[in-house]
Amino acid sequence: MASTASRAQAVGADDSADAVDLAALQQTARRFVEREVVPHLEAWEAEGRLPRSLYRKAGDIGLLGLGFPERFGGVPCSNATVVALVDELARAGSGGLIAGLLSHGIAMPPILALGDDALQQRILPPVLRGEALAALAVTEPGGGSDVANLRTIATRVEGADGSNARYVLRGEKTFITTGLAADWLTVAARTGGPGMAGVTLFAVPGDSPGLQRRPLAKMGWWCSDTAHLHFDGVEVPAALRVGDEGMGFYALMHNFNRERLMLAAMAVAFARVAIDDVIEWARERETFGKPLLARQLVRHKLVELETAQRAARAFLLQTVHAVDAAAAQGEGEDAALVADVCMVKNHCTAMLEHVAGVSVQLLGGMGYMRGVRVERIFRETKVLSIGGGASEVLAELAGKQLWAG
Ligand SMILES: Cc1cc2nc3c(=O)[nH]c(=O)nc-3n(C[C@H](O)[C@H](O)[C@H](O)COP(=O)(O)OP(=O)(O)OC[C@H]3O[C@@H](n4cnc5c(N)ncnc54)[C@H](O)[C@@H]3O)c2cc1C
Repeated sequence: MASTASRAQAVGADDSADAVDLAALQQTARRFVEREVVPHLEAWEAEGRLPRSLYRKAGDIGLLGLGFPERFGGVPCSNATVVALVDELARAGSGGLIAGLLSHGIAMPPILALGDDALQQRILPPVLRGEALAALAVTEPGGGSDVANLRTIATRVEGADGSNARYVLRGEKTFITTGLAADWLTVAARTGGPGMAGVTLFAVPGDSPGLQRRPLAKMGWWCSDTAHLHFDGVEVPAALRVGDEGMGFYALMHNFNRERLMLAAMAVAFARVAIDDVIEWARERETFGKPLLARQLVRHKLVELETAQRAARAFLLQTVHAVDAAAAQGEGEDAALVADVCMVKNHCTAMLEHVAGVSVQLLGGMGYMRGVRVERIFRETKVLSIGGGASEVLAELAGKQLWAG
């Protein structure tokens, strides 16, 4: 159902800042979605998980390595290129596909940023090949917004002869994407005192004794497994600590910027898909003797949706390019750019909520039916406004970055 207009507007389509052949990537991803995803999606939605074979197929064609260094089997590229990948994957009309398949995209950057070479070499290559699955475990039942106050405790225990140092993890994590299937969990736990300086990251093997995982049922993202994790004295060798003690919060904050851009990219991409589907529907569906598209009211609504989607896309691209430009200079995001990322995520996700609601309305009863892309997109809007930082929390962060400095 892709329109010519949407092709021309593919996010990042004009971006050639990195070595990736964007047209080839888009074609590869499109074929992957058409052949490997769409025919099976409803079954995966019913099962509540993606098959491991899908990760291997995605790894084989290089999709999982995008944005990661070559030495681990990745393909370095700009965020704009990863956003373009999201745009293509979104054509399946399933946020769960993107969240589940790319969960390593939030789990691996902290390991890349802080992990030592041995840890990186052990974890990254199999994950980027799709042979091992990865998840990021930060949120706790006591709260996800206030990361600095997380309560999972990691207690260091020295081996009898000074070797075999390890940490013992006790606590709970919840709402963890790919939490059931993950072979590696990047877990945030407290090793020090209160607040952000006490947070440390660990790479925890999914089969660790004492780790209990249970599935959570949810409104959308059905094909992406979401888990509650209970760490009941899970022993983690000190070699699996990611970076120094106390560095975890800072790595997570940097990670959040990328995650927020990707969630904004999903919002824009799903708005594009929903609008394309509504246009096609409005051409064919007749009421009172005329196609819906012949009604001025319907055309004006579509123009309003199209305008909202294009404006959000432009804001997203501007911000993504600014983040990429800062990275190319070897710089991180400054306060103004962090604020932009927060605002762009809020703007794009709110835009999608509006677009998806109107899209369901224009499809009438069909928009309420399972198996229709717009129905699923509508159910999957809220998670984008909550995950990776709820809108209210990001508004507060943006305001502080801009004016409280
Ligand atoms: C499907 C799904 C997948 C997820 N995957 C992961 C994952 O892989 N890893 C992971 O670690 N987490 C994951 N999360 C968790 C997600 O990041 C959190 O849900 C999110 O950060 C919000 O935390 P919370 O749910 O604990 O809400 P809370 O922190 O309890 O906040 C509840 C609500 O209160 C409001 N609020 C909070 N603070 C403020 C404030 N200061 N001012 C005004 N209003 C405020 C907001 O509306 C917020 O939504 C996932 C969540 C979902 C739903």
